[in-house]
Amino acid sequence: MNNPQCRAYIALGSNLDNPINQVQQAFEELAQLPHTRLISRSSLYQSEPVGRLDQPDFINAVACIETMLVPRELLHALLAIEQRHGRVRESLNAPRTLDLDILIYDDLQCADEDLTLPHPRMIQRSFVLKPLMEISPECDIPGLGPIAPLSAACIDQRLTRLPIPYP
Ligand code: AMP
Repeated sequence: MNNPQCRAYIALGSNLDNPINQVQQAFEELAQLPHTRLISRSSLYQSEPVGRLDQPDFINAVACIETMLVPRELLHALLAIEQRHGRVRESLNAPRTLDLDILIYDDLQCADEDLTLPHPRMIQRSFVLKPLMEISPECDIPGLGPIAPLSAACIDQRLTRLPIPYP
């Protein structure tokens, strides 16, 4: 493992099959990834669906990890966790047992076929920016700038922080 320790932020979301459990379990699985340490986790947030409204509310959160996995290794590890949670890719904005996205990986900026960093839609989504702001208020999003004004400008949806302690 030659890659240095890198800091990454991961978005977690679920709206099927006990979403709170899905997200809490996914935090544990992130913590157990090889060469990876879970640094912090946001509260859980409940958000109304975007794009397709005829589906349950989502549970969302953001995790900060330190990892020696390179971005594509991390992406594949996240896809494997999604698979274990029974993720079925039906269509864009469809309900899902678990969605894991890499929001930020160090200061990397890329737009490859399989991986775009920072995540291309993150600044349009309160359910990403609010939990990210909670755990990293000084966060500077590569190419986009400090999170605080971006989060203040993003009022796209109803979002409720849930008073659920960590298990
Ligand atoms: P979805 O689960 O619908 O969010 O889409 C996952 C797919 O998006 C993955 O198979 C990736 O190839 C692609 N993708 C592109 N950029 C990212 C990113 N920053 N984080 C996670 N998936 C990404």
